Amino acid sequence: MKTGENLALKSFTTFGVAARAARVVEIDSPADLARCRFEPATDLVLGGGSNVLLASDIDGTVFLNRIRGMRAVEDRGQSVLVEARGGQLWHSLVLWSLREGLSGLENLSLIPGLVGAAPMQNIGAYGVELSEVLERVEAWDWQQGRMVEFSTAECGFAYRDSRFKSRDAGRFFITRIFLRLARHFTPRLDYDELREELGRSNIAAPDAHQVSRAVIMLRRRKLPDPTLLGNAGSFFKNPQVSAAEAESLRARFRDLPSFPANAATVKLSAAWLIEQCGWKGHREGDAGVSDRHALVLVNHGNASGAEILALAHRVRDSVLERTGVRLEPEARIYPETRT
Ligand code: FAD
Ligand code: NAP
Repeated sequence: MKTGENLALKSFTTFGVAARAARVVEIDSPADLARCRFEPATDLVLGGGSNVLLASDIDGTVFLNRIRGMRAVEDRGQSVLVEARGGQLWHSLVLWSLREGLSGLENLSLIPGLVGAAPMQNIGAYGVELSEVLERVEAWDWQQGRMVEFSTAECGFAYRDSRFKSRDAGRFFITRIFLRLARHFTPRLDYDELREELGRSNIAAPDAHQVSRAVIMLRRRKLPDPTLLGNAGSFFKNPQVSAAEAESLRARFRDLPSFPANAATVKLSAAWLIEQCGWKGHREGDAGVSDRHALVLVNHGNASGAEILALAHRVRDSVLERTGVRLEPEARIYPETRT
């Protein structure tokens, strides 16, 4: 377990904003956790920092997850139970599972960050969510000072949400997850762009590797690369509104993309709403809205976290004023604010 004092965090998040932490602790094994204390008001767990905006310095301790590894733990023939530790790179797990002949993660290819953060917001892309393949989560409970396990049903998963992100935020350090992956591949091709991408390569009946490669190609083309331009992916969640609200919005905005979310609600495209308000490609100093994707706020170099947050507030307020739809941040903002 390595520790450091007064460390710069610029390279610890994909936004690349300058901030300092009073203390940083690297967790190399579950045993390290038993020797630490976590103060929810000031402390923070960081994985790859790809879903976090540091709005100012962290007065407490930043815990870094360095518990790595992945392996198959049970083979039932048709399916395999895989254990992945929290400090493992998510995309390396996806590639490893494909090499092992296992499917279920291909639509989630190239999502940045570490395994331990994946349950936090029930990561999802191209119509697939982590919760569909997750079997259980192991976590260190800072409150009780012991290891606990949650079945998928106990994780409180919802659209880009879980108990770890909402009602139990700051209580658990996720040490490992168990995934049930399939030997027999069933393609999930609901998203038009994914089918079109495969179509461009004349692939009518793709295998899991081909779906993964198509997702990777699409993401590389559509999203700014955080190693070149600081960002945390989608800054806001796609809003879910009632069917009646969606209908009245469609009367005003004929091209508004919308998708059934569940029996009672409809999901709207936050990127489309932001673009309608004229923000795509907008820049204020070094804080901006990506010119490739309106849902992605970017750091052109030296924007501070506070400047990016101020821009996020202006985007949110203008969407609310023009459309009546309130956007909620998907990225986690530290120190915690009432956004
Ligand atoms: P961090 O950003 O380090 O942390 C995120 C949150 O999880 C924080 O609250 C942190 O405290 C907490 N946390 C991290 N690790 C642990 C742990 N072990 N135990 C307890 N709490 C923990 N997300 C999607 O869902 N789908 C996408 O398609 C997607 N695409 C993206 C594309 C780009 C270009 C970028 C930059 C981001 C994208 N994201 C996407 C967001 C992000 O990559 C994911 O949410 C990812 O799971 C975050 O992982 P991380 O390790 O970077 O977490
Ligand atoms: P897209 O394909 O351009 O679609 C725009 C929006 O419409 C998406 O947000 C998506 O919702 C929704 N959508 C499209 N087809 C849909 C369908 N058949 N059923 C339900 N919803 C549909 O999206 P994109 O921005 O290029 O992103 C592609 C995928 O990667 C999306 O799933 C997106 O969530 C994910 N992604 C996530 C992040 C992040 O940081 N969270 C960043 C980049 C990409 P959903 O977002 O709910 O899927």
